[in-house]
Amino acid sequence: MYNFYYLTLFPAIINTYFSESIMRRSIDNHILQIHSIDIRDFSSNKHNRVDDYPYGGGAGMIMQAPPIIKAIESIENHQKTPVIFLTPSGIPFNIQECKKLALKLKKSKQFIFLCGHYEGIDQRVIDRYVTDEYSIGDYVLTGGELPALVMSDSIMRQIGGVLGNNESLKEESFENNLLEYPQYTRPQMVEDMPVPDVLLSGNHAKIKEWRKKRATEITEMKRPDLIKLKNNLKS
Ligand code: SAM
Repeated sequence: MYNFYYLTLFPAIINTYFSESIMRRSIDNHILQIHSIDIRDFSSNKHNRVDDYPYGGGAGMIMQAPPIIKAIESIENHQKTPVIFLTPSGIPFNIQECKKLALKLKKSKQFIFLCGHYEGIDQRVIDRYVTDEYSIGDYVLTGGELPALVMSDSIMRQIGGVLGNNESLKEESFENNLLEYPQYTRPQMVEDMPVPDVLLSGNHAKIKEWRKKRATEITEMKRPDLIKLKNNLKS
């Protein structure tokens, strides 16, 4: 069983996602457990405030350290648990980082995702409690919930038993630094567009060869950087 903790000001965002997604099955099957923790519950302010003005001035509000620290400390075994802060200044998240984190998860059995809001969080939380900082791209979102869900969804896919068929991971985009080949399903004819003949041939070796060729062509066209990476890895 793997535990995913989300420290957030909006637990409903996290709960809604997992109540609907394919991950629901893994939760029901006790492979994953989701805990969304409302940072406001740890506020000592009578209005449950958790933000304040930045020292030194400037726009926006900053999430205060004490409620976040109390929320982290409320988690069993938090000292041994990676605390991942979502931030535009973090390491860019990609498939390699995803696999590294999946291996880390196998050891720690649980992750804590810290979702920022407003202009971010008090640096002292990061300095003392955060073990990893990740960004999901060079743009700024309103909060860390979507990045936390993006990251955890892709990490969860790497855990045995989460996907119905683990074989599907092997052929997915970014495996071997290739994008995926085109996929087709019934009906055989859509408007005037047929399914490529080879996929109807029943010849598995030929199908495999065609898929590899198409995957390479598509990657060369759309993501030549991946092909370069693949060639560098070989040499
Ligand atoms: N003032 C911050 C800055 O310039 O880096 C941006 C704060 S953003 C409005 C609020 C929160 O959203 C951040 O603390 C972070 O948790 C999350 N966030 C926004 N963009 C993100 C991204 N690209 N990757 C990961 N987290 C992000």
